[in-house]
Amino acid sequence: MKDECIFCQIVNKKLPADIVFESDNLLAFRDIAPKAQHHILLIPKLHIESLQHASIKEQAILAELMLCSKEVMAGIGVTNGYRTVINTGKGGGQEVFHLHLHLLAGNLPTY
Ligand code: 5GP
Ligand code: ZN
Repeated sequence: MKDECIFCQIVNKKLPADIVFESDNLLAFRDIAPKAQHHILLIPKLHIESLQHASIKEQAILAELMLCSKEVMAGIGVTNGYRTVINTGKGGGQEVFHLHLHLLAGNLPTY
């Protein structure tokens, strides 16, 4: 827990969020400014700043993050596929420095 981190505050229910999934280690909630019909942020409850800050100690939690994404999306009715994005560091477009997986579905741009 990092006091000034908004995602840690959401984990600790100090900030409101539209939560769609919760497990012992993970939390998923709707992005406040959705870039697709469905835009979910799936995060580890543990504060890890970014993929650049993750170490081998965190391998189990990173695997869990990837592997739970299908359950999270199925839970909101998305069963035909979705896009996963992780922005890493300022150069990668990261704005919130608590590692998160973007899960996007519906009206996606192709590239
Ligand atoms: P990043 O650019 O760091 O990969 O993505 C951060 C995401 O967090 C953005 O898509 C932004 O809309 C979202 N976001 C920022 N602040 C909040 C918040 O307080 N609540 C929620 N639900 N999403 C947020
Ligand atoms: Zn945090």
